[in-house]
Amino acid sequence: MSKKPTGSIIYWIRSDLRLNDNIALWEAAKSNKDLIVIYIKDLITGPLQIKSAADIWTNKSLLELSARYKKLFNLRLNVYNQDYNTVLKSLYKETKFSHLYINNTYDPEIDAIDNSINKEFGSLFKINAYNSSLLFNPNEILNNAGSFFKVYTPFWKNALNKLNLREPLPLPNIKYVYQKEILSLKNIAISDVDGKWGKKILSYFNPGEISAREMLGKTSTNIKGYSEGRDFPIKNNTSQLSPYIARGELSVNEIFYLMRKNKKKININDYAKFTSQLGWREFSYNILYNFPKLPRKNFISKFDNFPWSKNSKLLNLWKKGLTGYPIVDAGMRELRTTGYMHNRLRMIVASFLIKNLNISWVEGAKWFWENLFDADIANNSSGWQWVAGCGTDAAPYFRIFNPTLQSVRFDKDGEYIRKWVPELKDLPNKLIHSPWELTEMELLTYDVKLGKDYPHPVVDHKTTRDEALRNYKKINIAK
Ligand SMILES: Cc1cc2nc3c(=O)[nH]c(=O)nc-3n(C[C@H](O)[C@H](O)[C@H](O)COP(=O)(O)OP(=O)(O)OC[C@H]3O[C@@H](n4cnc5c(N)ncnc54)[C@H](O)[C@@H]3O)c2cc1C
Repeated sequence: MSKKPTGSIIYWIRSDLRLNDNIALWEAAKSNKDLIVIYIKDLITGPLQIKSAADIWTNKSLLELSARYKKLFNLRLNVYNQDYNTVLKSLYKETKFSHLYINNTYDPEIDAIDNSINKEFGSLFKINAYNSSLLFNPNEILNNAGSFFKVYTPFWKNALNKLNLREPLPLPNIKYVYQKEILSLKNIAISDVDGKWGKKILSYFNPGEISAREMLGKTSTNIKGYSEGRDFPIKNNTSQLSPYIARGELSVNEIFYLMRKNKKKININDYAKFTSQLGWREFSYNILYNFPKLPRKNFISKFDNFPWSKNSKLLNLWKKGLTGYPIVDAGMRELRTTGYMHNRLRMIVASFLIKNLNISWVEGAKWFWENLFDADIANNSSGWQWVAGCGTDAAPYFRIFNPTLQSVRFDKDGEYIRKWVPELKDLPNKLIHSPWELTEMELLTYDVKLGKDYPHPVVDHKTTRDEALRNYKKINIAK
């Protein structure tokens, strides 16, 4: 590889674990300076510090990415676990790099870090920041009054009129690589150890850009029947691209571009519905940008006085999938076993936690954050606030899912329940949704004893529903 010692630059990987359609990396590669690529572990001070599913995913993805950098460009991916200030200071001292290339994450905590870097180091090196993760800058789609949209439908309609997809960028051509050792920083090895839980959840998904691109190649086929089937968890009609999107192994620009290219081969309803879900992600980031406290604070402040219960016993039963409501338990077990949960189930289990167990959405969001491969600060926060009714364009307070009716409607033959709650597998289709309606003798014919093989329902739906409605009245949400 030819070398031209005209200085050096840094590309800092954050939630963009890919080589393709990566604007910051592409721009950095165009420069005639030696490139240094870094990743800083535990950059986020918030909940991701916990050994989460997303951490496990990121580790695997970094291992693969590091090997590809080595093979394709003879470039070492430097992984550091000191704080970003120390890392940047040391790198500057040793290399006098002139530019720092980053893709914006639009996570308010990381945005704050980026701003402070700009303030502290702006006179030493230039920061080149790009939007490589969203179709629109989060404050680009505004209503006639110049404010951000709080309702999805007009947001997406307006956004589609402005949509300007780029032809996806191919692999970059990195010509100049910084080869000297960085002496003052300890480059840590990426661990290949996943632990018992990590091994289990990784048997359902393959992290990394290579698998991401394989999945992307199959997406037009995978979403056949999406508009009708996306609500039925057993049908596998959704794309399952979310972890690859959340960890930045795929760019949404490329996904949308490919869908548009293949439009003729995709059913029109499937195309519209699928791309509109990508729109929900844009909408969530638009809200997060304008209300950065979204991960912790109710968007509708009246909810600050909601009388939440702090019942940790019920919270733990929910986490373990032992609530006695088969559909809820199936969803919670899918999450803990695979690092993923179908969207319909996310809505059902969230509604159950908030409206039947009367436990704050913040607790549920934390559990999802630790357990989802696709944990995404905007989608997770807005998803939970949507169900709670305290977010923008949220479900109305009186929409309290009846878990049994949801189960009958979206898992009619109980196939999804049987997959995740095998102790009920012998119950007939009609009875599997609500085993408590059977007598003890009837249940014994299917080898089930409630309280022993499977729990009694931890709460009564009707009683807790009425209580939730009374609580909504207390904070003046219900008229
Ligand atoms: C309580 C709750 C929490 C959620 N937490 C997350 C989260 O942490 N990370 C996450 O990516 N999604 C989250 N979602 C949204 C949604 O459930 C997932 O994006 C979806 O289930 C992922 O599966 P898929 O890739 O097969 O989706 P598909 O149906 O194939 O959709 C394609 C892509 O569109 C985006 N998308 C789909 N639905 C939504 C939505 N409702 N809001 C925003 N974007 C969407 C995702 O990037 C998804 O990968 C949450 C939803 C709820 C109700």
